[in-house]
Parts: sequence; C-alpha cells; structure tokens
Amino acid sequence: MEEEAKKSNWVSRLKDGLKESSHKLTQGISAIFTRKKLDDETLLALEDLLISSDLGVETAQKLTTLLRKNRFNDDITKEEIHSFLAQEITRILKPVAKSLQISKTHKPWVILVVGVNGSGKTTTIGKLGRLFQTRGLKVRLAAGDTFRAAAIEQLVMWGDRSGIPVEVAPQGSDPASLAYEAYAKARQAQDDILLIDTAGRLHNKQDLMAELAKIRRVLQKVDPSAPHECLLVLDATIGQNAHAQVEIFQKTAQITGLVMTKLDGTAKGGVLIALAEKFNLPVYAIGIGEGVDDLRDFEAKSFAESLMGVSD
Ligand code: GDP
Ligand code: MG
Repeated sequence: MEEEAKKSNWVSRLKDGLKESSHKLTQGISAIFTRKKLDDETLLALEDLLISSDLGVETAQKLTTLLRKNRFNDDITKEEIHSFLAQEITRILKPVAKSLQISKTHKPWVILVVGVNGSGKTTTIGKLGRLFQTRGLKVRLAAGDTFRAAAIEQLVMWGDRSGIPVEVAPQGSDPASLAYEAYAKARQAQDDILLIDTAGRLHNKQDLMAELAKIRRVLQKVDPSAPHECLLVLDATIGQNAHAQVEIFQKTAQITGLVMTKLDGTAKGGVLIALAEKFNLPVYAIGIGEGVDDLRDFEAKSFAESLMGVSD
C-alpha cells in the first residue's frame, strides 16, 4: 500500500515536471487538428511539431508514418492522437528503460559518474546514494571532482544528509589516487556500492578524457572488471546538444548507461526519445528536481503518458 502511494505520488510529480514539454506537444496538436480528418497536411504539421519538440527527425517520421498507416483519412480526435503517440513512444522507450542492477558478486559494485559541468552529476550521486541506502545497501561516495572545492563540499553535504561516508582529497589533488583509495576503503568496509564523482571540465576535452581513463586504469588494478557501470549524466534542458555529448563520451569514456536530469520545467523532454532510438543505451534513471526524492528508475509508460498528457 505504501509502495502504491509512493508510486502514484512519483507519477504525479513526473507529470508536473514534464508539464512544459507536455503543454508544447498537446497545445501543438490542438492547433493542428482543428479539422477532424487525418490528411497529408495535418500529418506534415504533426511531424514538424514532433521535430521541434526534440524527438528527432527519424523518430518524428516513424511516428507519423505509423499514424498514416493506421488512421489515414479517418476522423480522429486529438485525444486519440495523444494515446496513439503515448503508446508508440512507450514502445520505443521500453527497450532502454532498465533499472540499475547492483550485483553482490563484486563488492563494492563500482559506479563511475561522468558528464559535462553542471549536468547534475554530483546531485545525481547524492540522490542515487540515498536511493540505494533505502534499499538496504551499504553505500560510499568518492568526491572525484577535485577540480573545484565547491564540488567536494557539495558531495560531502549530500553524504552528511543521508549518513553516507564520503571519501575526499584536497582540491587540485589527483582524482585517480582518490578513486583508488576510496575503492580500497570500500572493499575493506565490505560496502555494496561505491559511487565516484568526476570533474566535468578541465582545461580541454583531451584532459578530461585522459583523467577519466586514468581513474579507470587504477580501478582496474584492483579489479579488471571495474568500474562496473559508467553513467553519463545529461541535462535535459540542453536539448539537441545531448546527442553530441553521448557521442563523445561513448567513444572515449566507455559509458554503459544514461541518467537524464532536469526533466522538470524544461520544454525538452522529447530529446530522451530521440536518444533512445539513436544510441540504444540503457536509461537508468531520470531526475525531476533538486530534492533527494526527485530521482527514480526510468519507466517507459509513465514517461510517455506524462509527456502526452494521457492518464491511465
Ligand atoms: P555537476 O556539475 O554535473 O556535478 O552538476 P550538479 O549536480 O552540481 O548540478 C548542477 C545544478 O543543477 C545544481 O544547481 C543542481 O541542484 C541542479 N540539478 C541537478 N539535477 C536536477 C534536476 O533533476 N532538476 C533540477 N531542476 N535541477 C537539478
Ligand atoms: Mg559536480
């Protein structure tokens, strides 16, 4: 019962968070479907709307082609368009909506968190740490963004709030050494999970990628299979720019999955659908606010329905 209540509360907050993205789509659909028939003109306008809502050209075409096949020349209500799109978007998202599995075969299960500055890495680690802790797992954090003092303090604050230990090193020190030491401590303490924060911007891109590679190398000295996950955190408000970020980090940082933050209060929620189609990487979680409870597993159906303003 409590679980049910929590779930419905999350769905209503997700809906609220996606309000802007959702308004843009549903109002656009209302404006297009003033006549009832689904014809060439309305389909083309719908395709444009989907593209301008960041779903990407390919996905927009795929959705309108499906709609044409099913309902061309039919009388159709806008509510029917909403449910049709929600259903097809769910189908696209289902294969990438995975929950982050923590295996006890490796203790700790090491999760490296990467992404550009400001994307929400540190906040996501704080929220994820708490989420795992409430599931009864023993968590440790490592403040691997040693580049900025504020980033270290920020992670310590998240740790303090939940009573989760945070490994730190002075600003400017080598993040790979910190990662190594945090790993050793976590092994000794028999922790279930070690979440490692990283810097988002060094002097240039090569610098950042070399640093991430070094962190990876020292972890692999301890366990060749570490890190067990490498999460790329993406800020939903950047829209189309997310594509370039996934491409770069996929090539150079061996990411295993995505987390999308700031889905609240942006008009860019559609980008997640384009990324799902293009990269086929698991989307492990989404963030809809700055609070500790504002991150959850990514669920295809509730996301698609919230985006299209459809309720069960
Ligand atoms: P980092 O530089 O990648 O570590 O990013 P931070 O975790 O420091 O986050 C940058 C800013 O975005 C902070 O002000 C966070 O509070 C904020 N933020 C992070 N996630 C979310 C989210 O899901 N929604 C909103 N609205 N803000 C977020
Ligand atoms: Mg940070």
